[in-house]
Amino acid sequence: MRILISLIFLLITTSSFAAMFDGNFIQGSFILGKTEPGSKVFIDRKKVKVTPEGYFAFGLGRNRKNDVVITINEKKIIKKVFKREYKIQRIDGLEEKKVTPPEEVYERIKRENKWIGEARAINSDLTFFKNKFAIPVDNAIISGVYGSQRILNGKPKWPHYGLDFAVDEGTKIKAMLDGVVTLAEYDLFYTGGTLIFDHGHGISTLYMHMEKILVKKGQKIKQGDIIGTVGSTGRATGAHLDVRLNWFQTRLDPATVLDIKN
Ligand SMILES: [Zn+2]
Repeated sequence: MRILISLIFLLITTSSFAAMFDGNFIQGSFILGKTEPGSKVFIDRKKVKVTPEGYFAFGLGRNRKNDVVITINEKKIIKKVFKREYKIQRIDGLEEKKVTPPEEVYERIKRENKWIGEARAINSDLTFFKNKFAIPVDNAIISGVYGSQRILNGKPKWPHYGLDFAVDEGTKIKAMLDGVVTLAEYDLFYTGGTLIFDHGHGISTLYMHMEKILVKKGQKIKQGDIIGTVGSTGRATGAHLDVRLNWFQTRLDPATVLDIKN
C-alpha cells in the first residue's frame, strides 16, 4: 500500500501538481499530505511543518463542517469535508452521582487535563507520522467507536473520541507507531494508567486504562514494542484498551489509520 502511495506521489510530483493526499476528507480523518520539499504549507490559517521529503500531516475534527483550505506556496486547494453519522445513546433514570463527578475532584481533573493538553501541543520535527500504524492488541473486539455520545438523564456527555478494544486484563499492548513518550501517568482520574506518544508535527497517540506501564517519559519507542498491559484503571467499566489519535488539540478517529471499519 505504502509503495503504491509513494508511486502515486512520485507521479504527481513529477507532473507538477501542488500536492497529493493519503486519507479521506471525512469528519475525524487523519490526512497525510505530500508536496515538493521546501514548500510552505498552511492548513486553514495554521502553518504546518513539512519534512525534508515534503510530507505534512493534519486532521479533521468530529464536527468539522467547513471546507479545508490547504495553501501550498500561496496556491490554495479547497477540499469539501464529508459528514458522518455518530451513534447516540440515551440513558435516563440514572443516579445523579454517576452522571457528574464529585466536586472535590474538579481541581484534579483540571490539572490532569492540562498535562494531557500540553503533551498534545508538542510540535516536534519527528517524522514517524508518515509511516503505517499497527493494531495495538491482538484478538480484541471493538467495543467502542469514535464520535459516539451518551445522553445521561437528558445531559449530553462528552463524545467518545477513542477506539475501544475489549480484551482480557493483562493483555500486552504494542506501540502502534514509532514515537517518543511525552506522558506516562499511572493514575489519572478519568483515564487511569495513561501514555501519550509524540509522532511528529503535532500527531500524538494516547493509550488509556492501562494496568501496567512499561515505558518512561522521554523514551524512544519502536512500533510493536510492548509498552504495557490492558487494564480497567480510571473510569472504565471493564478491561479494555482505549486508544486516541490527535492532530494537536483536534481529536481524530484512530480507525482512519488502523484499517478498521466503523
Ligand atoms: Zn473508550
